Amino acid sequence: MATTTTTSAPEAAAEPPTRTGEPAISLEGVTKSFRSGSETVTAVAGVDLTIGAGEFFSLLGPSGCGKTTTMRMIAGFEEPTSGTVRLDGRDVTGIPANHRDVNMVFQSYALFPHMSVADNVAFGLRRRGVAKAEIRTRVAEMLDLVELGHRAKHRPSQLSGGQQQRVALARALVNQPGALLLDEPLGALDLKLRQSMQVELKRIQREVGITFVYVTHDQGEALTMSDRIAVMNHGRVEQLGTPAEIYEHPATRFVADFIGTSNLLTGVVRDRSEGGPWRVEVGEGATALAAELPDGAEAGGEVHLTVRPEKVHIGTAEPEGTVSRVPGTVTETVYLGSATHYQVDIGSDQQVTVFQQNASGAGLVAERGERVWLSWPPEHSYALSD
Ligand code: ATP
Repeated sequence: MATTTTTSAPEAAAEPPTRTGEPAISLEGVTKSFRSGSETVTAVAGVDLTIGAGEFFSLLGPSGCGKTTTMRMIAGFEEPTSGTVRLDGRDVTGIPANHRDVNMVFQSYALFPHMSVADNVAFGLRRRGVAKAEIRTRVAEMLDLVELGHRAKHRPSQLSGGQQQRVALARALVNQPGALLLDEPLGALDLKLRQSMQVELKRIQREVGITFVYVTHDQGEALTMSDRIAVMNHGRVEQLGTPAEIYEHPATRFVADFIGTSNLLTGVVRDRSEGGPWRVEVGEGATALAAELPDGAEAGGEVHLTVRPEKVHIGTAEPEGTVSRVPGTVTETVYLGSATHYQVDIGSDQQVTVFQQNASGAGLVAERGERVWLSWPPEHSYALSD
């Protein structure tokens, strides 16, 4: 028999979860180390997080950064080596998974193959002895929510991957958990289905208002769905913020590199005009402007600047005004229909990628080998700490 992959919510969760005004989930100084042979692997290193009730919160990072271990500690499948986990303000450290008011959904849906869709969804409620009439109503509501009411009598094997994942979601949500933990739930689906499920998941989360904690290594997925994202690297949270904050203002080189495409330029800080941005020399005759410098940086020192490819303007005339001005030579052009990508060599072994929308239909700004000027306003380049 297949095993269920949702943890059961406690008896009290038969009623809608009460809200105490406390954060739905908080982690305080949470560390998890594993013994691996003679070595100790620190999977999670001193994570502090507060997740609000009703938030869609993502843990995002590359493979091995500690996302799943963090989620498993919230669920109660792992205990922290040190630190505290709270759910709805209550310290649940050391409390087993089946006594925590959370449900988990995995990439492998692990539905019961011999049961109908409706019976799969009803499973948790039956086990808790909820009255038959109430089970029928709640299962029907859940199947409507995931738009599978017409498939209630089917077996899981008669459904597509996306539909099976929606059944798994309904099976978890019907328990009305305080929070739903989702570990790469769309990982097994093809790209098109994954994208439509992202929109679906966000809609469902908005409708039920339950806190979602979503683990993914896919930055597009996290940016699309989340209210806030914690970007993790080597067991730590490198940046915590809204998708726009993280995309527009990455706090570290790692985040700039991991989220979307970013140009990272290295230069020497020169000076700043009265109250104006800092001038950073990033190549011969090339000056980038930065509104702020990272802590510890000063005139004469080296800094790294990031600027997103779509913020860079490319032209053949020398730019005017208070902008970064960087001359260079086009080394590659890629025409993509709606946009053109340019690769520009700015000297000092540095390349800048430029995405230019083809709004006017004017065609290429410059061919390969041509000299161009790149420019962007100071608020679009950020000086980063390492
Ligand atoms: P992925 O996206 O690949 O699942 P992740 O970011 O979720 O990665 P974790 O699964 O949390 O990362 O693992 C973090 C680190 O902890 C990895 O180096 C992993 O090998 C190690 N690790 C996780 N679980 C154990 C375990 N039970 N025993 C030993 N090491 C472990």
